[in-house]
Amino acid sequence: MSHCDQPGLRSVEDALEHLLQSVEVAANTQRVALTDALGRVLASDILSAVDVPPADNSAMDGYCLRYEDFNAGAQYPVSQRIPAGTAPEPLQPGTLARIFTGAELPSNADTVVMQEDVTATENGVVINTSLKPGQNVRPAGQDIRHGQVVLAKGCRIRPQEMGLLASVGVAEVEVYSPLKVAILSTGDELIEPGNPLQAGQIYNSNRYTLIGLLKGLGMEILDLGIVPDDLEQTESAFIRAAAEADVVISSGGGSVGEEDHIKTMLEKLGQLAFWKLAIKPGKPFAFGSIMETPFVGLPGNPAAVFVTFALLARPWLLKMQGATGYLAQEVLVPAGFSTRKTGGRQEYLRARLLETESGPQVEIYPNQSSGILFSACWGNGFAVIPPGQVVAEGDPVRFLPYDAVLN
Ligand code: AMP
Ligand code: MG
Repeated sequence: MSHCDQPGLRSVEDALEHLLQSVEVAANTQRVALTDALGRVLASDILSAVDVPPADNSAMDGYCLRYEDFNAGAQYPVSQRIPAGTAPEPLQPGTLARIFTGAELPSNADTVVMQEDVTATENGVVINTSLKPGQNVRPAGQDIRHGQVVLAKGCRIRPQEMGLLASVGVAEVEVYSPLKVAILSTGDELIEPGNPLQAGQIYNSNRYTLIGLLKGLGMEILDLGIVPDDLEQTESAFIRAAAEADVVISSGGGSVGEEDHIKTMLEKLGQLAFWKLAIKPGKPFAFGSIMETPFVGLPGNPAAVFVTFALLARPWLLKMQGATGYLAQEVLVPAGFSTRKTGGRQEYLRARLLETESGPQVEIYPNQSSGILFSACWGNGFAVIPPGQVVAEGDPVRFLPYDAVLN
């Protein structure tokens, strides 16, 4: 906390480390068809039972031969025709075989000449180019070797991993069962979209942001709706959440106003590990447990919910889900903006990375208030400004793309 002018507030890095250290990886697994595996986390290593490709094959439409037989200007007889999907005969010495892209090379053949480099005459085929041994051949196992670990336990399956698993003949995988995450939106002022607004009300947006974020992580949602600002009802809602879900996440009610009951509830039903962080937006972030069930209390302000979920709840949940790759990668990009010296909190400005005539640049949304959810929709990432830093235009700033912190 050396450069922190709000002593007592835990840094974002500290909080994340604490969250991650607390994690016990969920143990339940299930088998799913490969078609249902998107976004799921592998519960075991996957070893390939085959070579990919399984045999040497041609990278071109053309003719294959044994390199040793190559004589510039010679006329070769064509001894067989090998379309993709057929099993070739061994190549007769001194001949060529007509071959097509993806077709298996016959034994004895080791080199392919593309069809554009030959002249087919009545007396045979003449090769009009020099050759290198092995050219235009995709060797067996060049992608994956038999016995190789193709994907490790903890890998989250993306579309390319689905394809990779299929390429080694895997039709089903053992994955962790989805975490069941209870979500609660606290606040007497909240009403669900689809209803007319009455005086004093606002629409519940956090619920939908959280549903989207959790669905993006492939998790199961126990949606407990709106919890009124009342201690008794807060307690009963959180008791149910903790009993029925693996994890509890709420929004709002985490300040110290008379209408904020999260802290009191937690002191009664569970434990508060820490509360309030040196982060902007998102200071009222709580972490602890309710009846042994891990709990994160997000702020109420919608942009703060988005930021703190992306930065803190996401890696925590992913680790609990058994995933290994949950830490996001930042890049340094020249700032297209300037800031005054930040206070004691690390700022996550809603920003966008764009290509300008002078190269890539990060711009920020003009209104960075924690209640402005539009800021999160405007851009494509966060500009991360450490406590006490001043940014001048052109300075390199840390940029965290949404791609790295959502889904
Ligand atoms: P709180 O932490 O409960 O004091 O909430 C802080 C601010 O966020 C208040 O302006 C709330 O009205 C707003 N807020 C809390 N929960 C939600 C929600 N679910 N959707 C939209 N705004 C919310
Ligand atoms: Mg509230």
